[in-house]
Amino acid sequence: MPELPEVTYYKKYVDATALHQEIVDIQVPDSKIAQASKKEFEEALLHQKFEKSDRHGKYVMLTLSNDKVLVFHFGMTGSFEYLKHDKIPKYAYFTVVFSDNGRLCFTCPRKFGKVYLAESLGAFKKEHKLGIDAMDLDLETFQKLLSPKRGSIKGALLDQHLIAGIGNMYADEMLFQTKIHPNTPVNHLSEVTLKALFKNVHPVLETVIKSQTEEDPLPNTYLTPHRHPGADCPNGNGKIKKMKVAGRSTYFCPECQEEK
Ligand SMILES: [Zn+2]
Repeated sequence: MPELPEVTYYKKYVDATALHQEIVDIQVPDSKIAQASKKEFEEALLHQKFEKSDRHGKYVMLTLSNDKVLVFHFGMTGSFEYLKHDKIPKYAYFTVVFSDNGRLCFTCPRKFGKVYLAESLGAFKKEHKLGIDAMDLDLETFQKLLSPKRGSIKGALLDQHLIAGIGNMYADEMLFQTKIHPNTPVNHLSEVTLKALFKNVHPVLETVIKSQTEEDPLPNTYLTPHRHPGADCPNGNGKIKKMKVAGRSTYFCPECQEEK
């Protein structure tokens, strides 16, 4: 499931392909993904250009020349494919056609992705109550956001209204790197532990982004490549276990991440 690092890649992909070209057609073959009618998309997009892209949390937002914004959420399997021919990929459920015959296709085999139309970036963030982007977090904000929380730390990291961009896989990685059991209630974490966790938020995201951009494997000390029950813990002690936390399949090492 695309999280902040993957969505960072999609933003770069759009920057390299789909900006500053006049939009001449919109194809919306699937209404489940489209969060506005075809007519509304046409009215907002036709004869406009994408002037810039932004990423906030797990969303890519494309601002048009008329200041309206086209927003993509990638669900489980969403991705972009840019083409210079009209053979549209099988799972392309939203396609923008440009005057130079380029096409930006939003492919989404499992159809959990969404395409929204918004009046502005600010309006979209407000309407969807998006929290601060994980890359914009500082320690003080992190502590302030988490201090009133009573549920599990894993649940808090996944809450997009609190912090936007961290998903299931990299929340597990941050907790593994900090040796925190995913089920630990936030209010049981000491200030020192919370600081240590914050210190892993950006490095984990940046390491994943770098690994994807440079097509390098993740470090051997990472949990992410060992996400199956019974796998050897990358720290060399214990076996990886799977359990449900905050309704999500969670991987951790019971030896390294003791429950307190
Ligand atoms: Zn371990």
